[in-house]
Amino acid sequence: MPERYDAIIVGGGHNALVAACYLALAKQKVLLLERNESLGGATASVYAFPGVGAKLSRYSYLVALLPDQIRKDLELEFETLSRTVSSYTPARESGILINRIFDDVSRKSIIDYTGNPKESDAWERFYNRIAEFAEKVAPTMLQPLPTESEIRELVGDELWQEFIETPLSETLDKYFEDDVIKGIVLTDGLIGTFASAREKAANICFLYHLVGNGTGEWKVPRGGMGKLIEELSAKVKSLGVEVRTGVTVTKLSDNGTDVEVETDDGNFISKVVLAGCSPTTLAKISAIPAPKFRDGSQLKINMVLSRLPELKSGIDPKVAFAGTFHIDESYSQLERAFEEAKSGKIPDQIPAEMYCHTLTDRSILSPDLQQSEVQTLTVFVLHTPASIFDVNHDQVKAEITAKVLQGLNRYLKAPIEEFLLKDSSGNPCIEVKTPQELEAEIDLPRGNIFHSDLEFPWRSDAENIKWGCETKSPRIFLAGAGARRGGGVSGIAGHNAARAALERLANSS
Ligand SMILES: Cc1cc2nc3c(=O)[nH]c(=O)nc-3n(C[C@H](O)[C@H](O)[C@H](O)COP(=O)(O)OP(=O)(O)OC[C@H]3O[C@@H](n4cnc5c(N)ncnc54)[C@H](O)[C@@H]3O)c2cc1C
Repeated sequence: MPERYDAIIVGGGHNALVAACYLALAKQKVLLLERNESLGGATASVYAFPGVGAKLSRYSYLVALLPDQIRKDLELEFETLSRTVSSYTPARESGILINRIFDDVSRKSIIDYTGNPKESDAWERFYNRIAEFAEKVAPTMLQPLPTESEIRELVGDELWQEFIETPLSETLDKYFEDDVIKGIVLTDGLIGTFASAREKAANICFLYHLVGNGTGEWKVPRGGMGKLIEELSAKVKSLGVEVRTGVTVTKLSDNGTDVEVETDDGNFISKVVLAGCSPTTLAKISAIPAPKFRDGSQLKINMVLSRLPELKSGIDPKVAFAGTFHIDESYSQLERAFEEAKSGKIPDQIPAEMYCHTLTDRSILSPDLQQSEVQTLTVFVLHTPASIFDVNHDQVKAEITAKVLQGLNRYLKAPIEEFLLKDSSGNPCIEVKTPQELEAEIDLPRGNIFHSDLEFPWRSDAENIKWGCETKSPRIFLAGAGARRGGGVSGIAGHNAARAALERLANSS
């Protein structure tokens, strides 16, 4: 007879682990099955280069969306650190430096670049409006889904019109004139979303990037992103969750009473199933259809450097790389790159952004490297959709990587390649992940980092759903990034699916 559980969780990403914790805290018998040998999915940290003591956040790298409430409920010792610098954008012979707290340095930098205070005044006005929105919407994320009308009433008509109804392109035009400044703002609408600023998808992505925890501040995970998984793994263990890695779930069948779970390592029966995998994978293993979604469109590059390179603009590299360093991300460059990529071409200028984890947190380095000048550099490349890599994958990957590095080198005194540390075999410490490789390694469909397209974090007035994780089976819930309000490192999807599953378990017992 197959073993019986109250809840079986498919996948071992951070959302699945969060769900497992909440279910186990409610005294349910829980089994978690992860197809890879290790847990973490897109939140893993790894020693990517042989013989090099740098534990890199291989995929995701900054945290904004994880609510304090989840950390508190689960007693997670997972610390996230503020950065002084928000971003640096090299432009013309100098650049634009914006600190996290918009101060005189930031103001002066924008004024020096644009020649007048208009854009810096607009910056402050714009982000004050966003802060107002974030403060109101963030507290709803762990509650039953509010309706669109409720959110509209909560934020007021003016904010609603500005950030929800009006395309981001038009709102940016209303506030800003400068192409580079507009681009810095726009990137938050494009991270992980292959879209034009004119599309609703950019409004949705923008909102996600700015509402996290009520502040939208992107912080550095101390110890790397994998520290979150270490904490969650210890917690599920202490709560008695049974965790099996290297086990792939191959079929889920709702028999009207329970869910039959087939795996490549035996079969189980469960009262409910929480799918921490993507909706696409769920559709492959069950009768639950998946929505259409856009290709993932990013390339992720991880590097370890012997030291930071100097910049032509003369800015201290420890300042320039401490926040987000933007290259070729002006508004017009972003829009052009999108149109080129959409038509199947490799963009002429490829937008990318990068940051140095070790300037904020050196604990990801071994003790000897901590004493050296070694630094890590993470690059997130935009508008390189999976479709571009479908033909001649390796050649296209090499071409795009070379172009991105050239794009960065334009601003450096000596090329970045000269700063790459060597691993124990003498190879340079650089790894590049395409959307296809993300799919093969951690099952992100077409490399989509949010499992599916993001949706606004509420329901339409007509929708009859409560948590945003419901499927057509009353016993199967979506518990990963593809659930409503799920994208990014937040644990929100795991929390909400656990709440929905516990309600189901209470009603069916
Ligand atoms: C390059 C990159 C950079 C990113 N940067 C950031 C960032 O800085 N900040 C941020 O907030 N977000 C970022 N994201 C997005 C974020 O990492 C993801 O949205 C989030 O981690 C998804 O978590 P999850 O737990 O829902 O799913 P995942 O982490 O995707 O985990 C799903 C797990 O399910 C397993 N699985 C799938 N199918 C099966 C099966 N049949 N049986 C068993 N197991 C299965 C997979 O192996 C995987 O481990 C980034 C993502 C990527 C790829």
